[in-house]
Amino acid sequence: MRRSLRVGIVGGSIAGLSVAAALSRIGADVVVLERGPAGFATRRGGLGVSPQLCRALAATQDGMLRHVVHQQRRLWIRGAEHEEAANIAVTSYGILWRWLRAQLPESMVEFGQTVALIDGQTARPRVTTTDARSQDFDLVVAADGGGSEARRHVLADDAHAAFAGYVLWRGLVPFAALDDRTGIYGGRLLIANRGDQHFVGYAIPSDESCCAAMNWGWYLPTDEAALAELRAGGAVRPPHQLERCTDALEAFVRARAASRELWPGWVEQIIDRTIACGTIAPHPVYEFAASAMVRGRVVLVGNAAHLASPITGSGGRMAMEDALALADALVEHGDVDAALAQFSQCRTREGAALVEQGRQRGAAFRATTPRRTA
Ligand SMILES: Cc1cc2nc3c(=O)[nH]c(=O)nc-3n(C[C@H](O)[C@H](O)[C@H](O)COP(=O)(O)OP(=O)(O)OC[C@H]3O[C@@H](n4cnc5c(N)ncnc54)[C@H](O)[C@@H]3O)c2cc1C
Repeated sequence: MRRSLRVGIVGGSIAGLSVAAALSRIGADVVVLERGPAGFATRRGGLGVSPQLCRALAATQDGMLRHVVHQQRRLWIRGAEHEEAANIAVTSYGILWRWLRAQLPESMVEFGQTVALIDGQTARPRVTTTDARSQDFDLVVAADGGGSEARRHVLADDAHAAFAGYVLWRGLVPFAALDDRTGIYGGRLLIANRGDQHFVGYAIPSDESCCAAMNWGWYLPTDEAALAELRAGGAVRPPHQLERCTDALEAFVRARAASRELWPGWVEQIIDRTIACGTIAPHPVYEFAASAMVRGRVVLVGNAAHLASPITGSGGRMAMEDALALADALVEHGDVDAALAQFSQCRTREGAALVEQGRQRGAAFRATTPRRTA
C-alpha cells in the first residue's frame, strides 16, 4: 500500500537498521545514511535482545537466533547469595548488527555519509550530507543515537541528554581466562549489589561459541568533577568502543582501589582477569526522554528519542519496538500524518516509562552507603 513512500534514515546502528528492515518489509523505498565508514560487524560487548522482536523483523531467516544465549538463572547478591529463575536473552552487538544488515539489500545502506542538515520545513524533508549532496524524502527517520543532532528538528525545548551521576565501567574478558570451578559463570545473569554500587555480568556468544566472553558492567557513582577528570585523561571512549586502552585501564584501577574487597571472590576474579587480559572502558551514563517523537515528516527513534540507562538492558529492544510500531502505524493508517501522530503518542509514552525505570533503578542502587564484605 505504501510502495511510493521514500524514507531516509539517519544512522545505521541498531535503530536505523531495524527501521530499514521494518519499513522495507511494508514496501517503502529506504535509504540509510551512516557516517561510520564500514559498519559495525565486529563491535564487541553484550546486548539484551528479544528473540520475538527479531522474528518479527526478519524477512525470511532467523539464523541469528542460534547466537542468542538464554541466561536461565539469575544470581543475586544482596547481603547473601540467592538464585532465582530467569530467562534473559543476550547476544553481542556485532552479531545482532550483522544479522540486521543481512536483512537489507547491499545498496540500501550508504556508509561514510554524515548528515549535516535536515530541512523539515517543507512537505518533503530534505537531507544534506557533508559532501553537499541533497536528497528529498517523504519521511526522514532520525536514528542518530544518544547525542542526536536531529533532535532539534523535532523538539523545540532543551533536547540534551543529562548525566545520570554514575559511570558504567564495562569489561570484556575471554571466558577461557576464568577458572569456573564453582560453575557459577555459565548460564547465569550475575547481579551483585553492594552499598551504592552495582555489578552485572553475563556470558556472551561469538559465532563459534555461546560462552565466548564474560561481559560485565560495574555501575559506579561519579560526580561531575571526577567525570571531567576521566574525560581529560582520555579514558572515555564512544559508547560501543571496547578495546584495550591503557588510559582506561589505569583510571579503572584507581577507581577500583577505593572499592577493593567490595565484591565476593568470583566477581573479583572476573575483574582481575579483565585487567590482566581483557578490555575495560568507562561509559558515563546519560538519560533523555523526548516529549514528542515526530514533527512534520521528521521522526525520532531509538536512543535519539529515549536514551535510557543501560541498567534497564532495554535500549536495543526499544529501538526494535520503535521500528515495528512505525511500520504497523503506517500500515494501519491510510494517511501518513495520522500514522505518525499515533506512533509518536504511543512510543513517546513507552520511552518515557523506560527512561524513568532507569532513573529509579539508578537511584535505588545508589540509595545506601557502601559496605565492605567481611
Ligand atoms: C554502555 C552501554 C551499554 C548498553 N547495554 C545495553 C544492553 O545491555 N541491552 C540493550 O538492549 N541495550 C543496551 N544499550 C543500548 C543500545 O546499545 C542502544 O539503545 C541501541 O543500540 C540503539 O541505539 P541507536 O541505534 O538508537 O543509537 P546508536 O547505537 O548510538 O547509533 C546511532 C548511529 O547514528 C550514526 N550517526 C550519528 N550522527 C550521524 C549523522 N549526522 N549522520 C549519519 N550518521 C550518524 C552513528 O554513527 C551511529 O551509528 C547500551 C548502551 C550503552 C551505551
